[in-house]
Amino acid sequence: PFKAVRADKTDAGQDVRFAVMEESELMDGDVTVRVSHSTVNYKDGLALSGKSAVIRRFPMVLGIDLAGVVETSNHPGFAPGDEVIVNGYGLSETHFGGYAEKARVKGDWLVKLPPTLSPAEAMAIGTAGYTAMLCVMALERHGATPAAGPVLVTGAAGGVGSTAISLLAGRGWTVIASTGRASEADYLRGLGAAEIIDRATLSAPGKPLGKELWAAAVDSVGSTTLANVLAQTRYGGAVAACGLAGGMDLPATVVPFILRSVALLGVDSVQRPMPDRIEAWARLAVELDRTKLAAITHTIAFDQVFDAGRKILAGEIRGRTVVTIG
Ligand code: NAP
Repeated sequence: PFKAVRADKTDAGQDVRFAVMEESELMDGDVTVRVSHSTVNYKDGLALSGKSAVIRRFPMVLGIDLAGVVETSNHPGFAPGDEVIVNGYGLSETHFGGYAEKARVKGDWLVKLPPTLSPAEAMAIGTAGYTAMLCVMALERHGATPAAGPVLVTGAAGGVGSTAISLLAGRGWTVIASTGRASEADYLRGLGAAEIIDRATLSAPGKPLGKELWAAAVDSVGSTTLANVLAQTRYGGAVAACGLAGGMDLPATVVPFILRSVALLGVDSVQRPMPDRIEAWARLAVELDRTKLAAITHTIAFDQVFDAGRKILAGEIRGRTVVTIG
């Protein structure tokens, strides 16, 4: 038997709670993993709330990320004892996820833990940090360089934002951090932000074109914020959009695209093909400053995930949360 956070369908909606499960209840897969750590992303907060559409079949074990050790494997790429991570691939949506002491998954979803990262560090990065790296890769593949001008990061004190600031500053970018939490200014400067702006300056409807303030941006907020970010991006610049913390809509005009050749780069982490995952994790292992990673991370016990889920939806979590599972 093992402990898991399980969602069941009820007449009233969803019931999400701790449950004791049997290995025989695990879903199909060719690798069984003893989970040591998971994390709390925004999407985990949504699923834990018991009110969201994240979960697409029931019962479901929550947790979109996991790190642990292979127990048994019928996959040629993995053997017992290998340290592995999984991000996304439908975990907590259609396949049992990482809030469980055991997981059975497809070996094709696994990334071997880079040798210089511990499982706890990998979950301190988690989907949020791996997505921040995918955003950096998207900007670089577009040809963006620090020489073009500053980069804006929205949702700066959150998980994606904190990691993006650290990575971009480490690559030599001048980082402008947009936050609603003025109290986190020192924290954001410590991660490498050169300038802090109040997110309120981006959240009210603005003009189709504004002053050209940044050459690139990483946006985890969406909605009016993303529309304003596009309107204030320099000629030929690019915006990597990965989130919806401020809303799912995009009340924008095409003007930044057709008059300034601004590019909007969509970034998905869940179904991302394996070569990009391996590249992202290899780069994270090398490029992410460990002192900064430690500064953005706090660790909680398995029992505390519900509380952390409530806090992340309320915008009260700073940086990243590691959950110790087994
Ligand atoms: P998080 O830690 O909660 O960070 C989100 C940050 O956005 C908050 O810390 C806050 O930053 C800001 N924010 C929250 N509510 C806002 C509002 N109403 N208006 C403006 N800003 C607001 O969450 P996360 O795990 O980093 O995820 C960030 C977003 O990216 C989420 O929407 C998540 O679903 C998405 N995401 C997508 C992918 C993908 O595959 N595309 C992967 C990972 C995450 P400040 O307090 O600094 O203002």
